[in-house]
Amino acid sequence: MSRRKLVVGNWKMNGLRAQLGEVEAIGGLAREHGSVEVGLCLPATLIAAADAVKGGAFVGAQDCHMRASGAHTGCLSAPMLAEAGASWTIVGHSERRQDQGETDADVAAKALAAKAAGLKVILCVGESLEVRDAGDAEAVVSAQLLASLPEGAAADWLSIAYEPIWAIGTGRIPTMEAVAEMHAALRAALARRIGGEADAVRILYGGSMNGDNAAELLALADVDGGLIGGASLTAEKFAPVIAAAA
Ligand code: PEP
Repeated sequence: MSRRKLVVGNWKMNGLRAQLGEVEAIGGLAREHGSVEVGLCLPATLIAAADAVKGGAFVGAQDCHMRASGAHTGCLSAPMLAEAGASWTIVGHSERRQDQGETDADVAAKALAAKAAGLKVILCVGESLEVRDAGDAEAVVSAQLLASLPEGAAADWLSIAYEPIWAIGTGRIPTMEAVAEMHAALRAALARRIGGEADAVRILYGGSMNGDNAAELLALADVDGGLIGGASLTAEKFAPVIAAAA
């Protein structure tokens, strides 16, 4: 099964209007490398302005509420993000699972809310260093994936990002062998739930991916792209990652 590579930047809580030039430049890179699907999950405040300069890239959000509207001060719903110009959203990033106490059930509900608003979804899973050191990473992350997986999960709207928590923003990555084993384990777990559709679901790697390691990571059999934090903040840093995926 050949799956189009998906390379997505997660800007987290970074980016003011002064950085829209980077969005535009990355949109230009996306146009140049049309074989790769390229996107930027931006702070919500930038989505509408970025939509106007996004070139060949898509613009996404980093989270959405599980309800479409209501008394939830400070939150943003999937329809709001879609109206602003987002076509994708991340759900279940480890920083939200940790900082906001989001549960697997919350993540599944958010994914369904996003789908209902027409957004595509990147669902994040990943283990702590303690779990990795205990040798339980594949079992724990597979269980986390199945517990977070929304009803009706299918490749045309859902992708998975495997992000070891200890690799995010640290410059450390697992061995290539460990990444390959985890991605194969996650595809097998998906197949247990959604059968042959699992073959088409893209499973991204995230955690300190950059221009130096992207080619090797993206060459692994079940690695269908990347979710990239720090190395997506400028076109200069993101360019070699996009090129490696092309
Ligand atoms: C992320 O937070 O999704 C991420 C992968 O960050 P970084 O690339 O900076 O490790």
